[in-house]
Amino acid sequence: MKKVFIYHNNSTKSIEIASEVKKKFAVADFEISENIADVDLIVNVGGDGTLLSLMHEFDFPTKAIAGINTGHLGFFQEVSPENLDIFMEKYIRGEYIVQPYNIAKAEIYFSNKKIELRALNEFVIRGKGTRPIHLDIGINESFIEKFSGDGIIVSTPAGSTAYNYALGGALVDPRLNLLQVAPMAPMNNTAYRSLTSSILLPHKDKLIILPSDTNKEELSIIFDGTAREFKDIEKISLTLSRRKINLIRFNDTTFWDKVKEKFL
Ligand code: NAP
Repeated sequence: MKKVFIYHNNSTKSIEIASEVKKKFAVADFEISENIADVDLIVNVGGDGTLLSLMHEFDFPTKAIAGINTGHLGFFQEVSPENLDIFMEKYIRGEYIVQPYNIAKAEIYFSNKKIELRALNEFVIRGKGTRPIHLDIGINESFIEKFSGDGIIVSTPAGSTAYNYALGGALVDPRLNLLQVAPMAPMNNTAYRSLTSSILLPHKDKLIILPSDTNKEELSIIFDGTAREFKDIEKISLTLSRRKINLIRFNDTTFWDKVKEKFL
């Protein structure tokens, strides 16, 4: 018996649609499982923010995910609630493709420990409050340039349509395995030198961020919109994770059709 896990946000509409989806899968002889590790399909009812919550609550599950959009932007969400029956039929007949999406990984080094964070959309490295930050930026073992300014945003292709887009970054087809690194309000004058242009970093390469001494104390690391503040960071290494998540696509619409539909 195939198993399905149903996740939803707390809006009235999402709760209602999730309950309808549950009934439809039960009638189609699926087991509704409470154990996400053990299922054939994850159904995510809500918007893109709900997918981000699912990712962080369940440590980026790699099982196939189908998104049902309940009135949000829903860039990741493939199915509209009016089309639940068509969704069920197509899923059962196997008429879909699975699109893998890269995840970004940050390793944050302190003198006596290292912690790891993951993000589906992006990492933003900023100062505390409105203070500018001062960093050295490197790629793998090579120093590239200094940075002073608001911060650095490091986006996956999935995140290219989110904060990155609002900051004027490039929209990236999810079939490309890269990270987009962009300076946020760089200060480039006689007092400070800064990286001023974006960088595209291929798979396996690492972006290295070294806080300057004056700034070592407080850096804010924002992953998919959630901020954590850290003191005494020695080094941050950002790269694509080996793990990918898998979103189900039912239509022939390409990434660019979605961009046109949602943004242009
Ligand atoms: P939120 O403040 O509730 O919503 C942020 C908006 O971003 C929602 O409309 C959401 O879509 C949309 N969104 C999220 N991921 C997206 C993606 N990959 N492509 C296109 N749109 C996307 O916060 P949230 O829902 O938890 O999302 C956190 C994200 O907000 C962060 O990862 C960051 O990318 C983004 N953000 C954007 C700005 C900006 O544009 N100036 C500033 C800060 C953060 P739904 O309506 O479908 O949920």
